[in-house]
Amino acid sequence: MAYDDQNIFARILRGELPAIKVYEDDQVLAFMDIMPQAEGHTLVIPKNPAVTLLDLAPEAAAYTIQIVQKVAQAMETALGVKGIVLMQLSGTVAGQTVPHVHFHLIPTNVHELGKHAATMGDQEKIKAQAELIKAALAAA
Ligand code: AMP
Repeated sequence: MAYDDQNIFARILRGELPAIKVYEDDQVLAFMDIMPQAEGHTLVIPKNPAVTLLDLAPEAAAYTIQIVQKVAQAMETALGVKGIVLMQLSGTVAGQTVPHVHFHLIPTNVHELGKHAATMGDQEKIKAQAELIKAALAAA
């Protein structure tokens, strides 16, 4: 699928829009979802310009999943979450709203998932959660 380099996540990757980051390396960025479906909702994105998981190079997908696991472990340590829903929506038909591939880490029970990308979260609370996750990542 053609990649739109003006999408929100591409602009975050270029530093044109702010994000509450918890992890970054040369291939992957993890940051807090500003409209969380549950407290601690975090997004992990590869830096490759791919729209969906189906477009992503297998090597990039494999590396991104390693970071997804690392961030999930930090969320467990930092936020005391007991269960995390890993959600990946590929395609608008599936509900994807931002056309840059990403993995949602949502600390909740799948049956209690709130509405997707609906309500702006408390940004100060989200920043505080990000600091806890970053500290757990640094200590790992
Ligand atoms: P999806 O619908 O699977 O494409 O998910 C996109 C996610 O990005 C939603 O959960 C939104 O709440 C989230 N989102 C949209 N804009 C931003 C932003 N500027 N910073 C952080 N998260 C965002």
